[in-house]
Amino acid sequence: MSVETVLGTCHHDCPDTCGWIATVEDGIAVKLRGNPAHPYSRGELCPKVNRFLHRVYSPDRLLQPLIRSGPKGAGLFEPVSWNAALDRVAEMVREIVAIWGGEAVLPWWDAGTQGLIQMSSLDRRFFGRLGASRLVGSLCGGTAGAGTAATNGTGLAADPMSIRFSKLILLWATNTKLTNRHLWPFIEEAKANGAEVVVIDPIRTSTAQAADWFIQPLPGTDVALMLAMMNVLIRDDLVDSEYVEDYTVGYEELADRVAGWPPERAADACGVPALEIERLAHAYGAKRPAMIRTLIGAEHHENGAMFFRTLACLPALTGSWRDRGGGLARSVGSWADRNVDDAVFDWPGSASRRTINMNHLGRALTDSNLDPPVKALFVWNGNPAVTVPNAAAIRQGLEREDLFTVVSEQFMTDTARFADVVFPATTQLEQVDLVPSWGHLYLGWNEPAIEPLGEAVPNTELWRRLSRAMGFTETELFEGDESLISSALTGVNLETLRADGFVRVDVPEDLRPYANGSFGTPHGKVELFSRTLAESGHDPLPDFIPARESPAGDPDLAARYPLVLLTPKHHTRFLNSSYSHLPKHGPVEGGPFVELDPSNAQERSIGEGDLLEIWNDRARLRLPARITNRLRPGVVAVPFGWWSDHHGGRATANSLTNDTLTDWGGGVAYSDTLVEIGKVG
Ligand code: SF4
Repeated sequence: MSVETVLGTCHHDCPDTCGWIATVEDGIAVKLRGNPAHPYSRGELCPKVNRFLHRVYSPDRLLQPLIRSGPKGAGLFEPVSWNAALDRVAEMVREIVAIWGGEAVLPWWDAGTQGLIQMSSLDRRFFGRLGASRLVGSLCGGTAGAGTAATNGTGLAADPMSIRFSKLILLWATNTKLTNRHLWPFIEEAKANGAEVVVIDPIRTSTAQAADWFIQPLPGTDVALMLAMMNVLIRDDLVDSEYVEDYTVGYEELADRVAGWPPERAADACGVPALEIERLAHAYGAKRPAMIRTLIGAEHHENGAMFFRTLACLPALTGSWRDRGGGLARSVGSWADRNVDDAVFDWPGSASRRTINMNHLGRALTDSNLDPPVKALFVWNGNPAVTVPNAAAIRQGLEREDLFTVVSEQFMTDTARFADVVFPATTQLEQVDLVPSWGHLYLGWNEPAIEPLGEAVPNTELWRRLSRAMGFTETELFEGDESLISSALTGVNLETLRADGFVRVDVPEDLRPYANGSFGTPHGKVELFSRTLAESGHDPLPDFIPARESPAGDPDLAARYPLVLLTPKHHTRFLNSSYSHLPKHGPVEGGPFVELDPSNAQERSIGEGDLLEIWNDRARLRLPARITNRLRPGVVAVPFGWWSDHHGGRATANSLTNDTLTDWGGGVAYSDTLVEIGKVG
């Protein structure tokens, strides 16, 4: 028997990007465990990925190409050869391009794998060569990065691992214990050394329960809380005047603006008592090092970029960037650009093509005025019928008989059920990749541990095969996987990386990016007042504007739909829409439900477990009630990620959610959604 161990890296859309070791016996992976040498994940995976081999060897894996044999959405397919499937796609795409032009083809992909080349590399060349429309925007990340950059000039942030040196930790709109679990031991280390942990979140999460202090603003109102904190910092002389003088511009203008936001006014807007705001501001102004930690939840509001733009002003006022363990720790994905340049995958001329925001897939597929209409849709690394807001419109679009849909997938997802052709995709154990992280400062190597199962292929191989089927001949379209990785890497020895399984991005151990200024703005200073924002038609100063779809933003709508809907990640055993259908994952989590506060339940005579209808103008769902003390009155939650099978029909949580784009950054306002609920029967 041959036994070997193979180093790899988790590819999921998760900040932790854990290192792993696969044990392979006679070509079969028999064990997957965390790599104890990995400096961040330190030998632990998570309850989702501890059972990853169930995913790899699931009897439900798609292992052959399929062609639709029934009505769209019915999930009826016939297996065919690769050549037959490729010929069908090439024939349809040629016809569509000949009649409607290349921009009638839309690629749609997301972070189903975050690996450098399997997420997006040769696809850019293939669709660039085709002249297709270009997908822009982001479900997560773009708004947060743009908001932070509006203040700091770049999205670059503090090293999350430096939180171990903090004395005050504000976990702001992030459920660390569930969605960023490998950071928690570093927080515990800080706690053991006397740090105070404050959680600010509209939901009393498991992280909130483990904190020293929990603050619960109304959803989407955090900016009012921040403005009042700044009011108190300035009023009570808790500002680092030297840092402000040396490294910021627009302090006077900011001071004028926040003077209009005393804690009492903010309390009315965000529902946090004025005295608690005062106490928070004093703690933040007095304790050093003070770290603010946030990730992506707060960007899912119409004012999502403003959240990050305003938040980034706080460490500039207190000078906490000076300290190791201070500043603002959010996504650190931009640091990987020191060693990884994915622009090498771009195709010349693509930048001028029509763009479609990925959050507006439903609109693009159902807009009868779109010229040219989307006639061919390619989907990989994602399940938009479940994960994208206004999913009801997406399903309506996917049903179009004149839409040719191609999906590359590991399983028959809600989206794949609508495909005309499905290609079988490999899992991370079957493909090579380099995985940058947005949760820590290490690049991970992923060596394929086993041969691809059945006829599955990595995404890169799919694009090579499709290029060949289309008759394209440019050599760039056929570049091999390791060559793609090498061409994008700088300053890293590939053989060493391969041997170790990870390498630290080229930044100092004591990373304090703005200890001495050096912000990314034209003058190198924090823009408390932003001329760039003013020139692009935005408020140059932080301010709080309620979302249009919120109780304060549209009282008429709120009269019909008085409850704010949140769609949080709730599960330990699945991630976004991945795993929810697998027996050792989704079913053990129970199923979706509507979570609500006892007062809202009492008003509507709802008891625990009652079947509820939840609805707005977009969709209706029926789900059981779960009454808890985790939410404020006026707020309900439906966990996101369950496929429609678990909802007993077509709709999912995202059928209800709002697809209004965020203020800037190309993201979307999932969490500015109003609904009503009622007991069925
Ligand atoms: S999903 Fe996240 S926590 Fe789990 S193994 Fe992958 S990177 Fe680690």
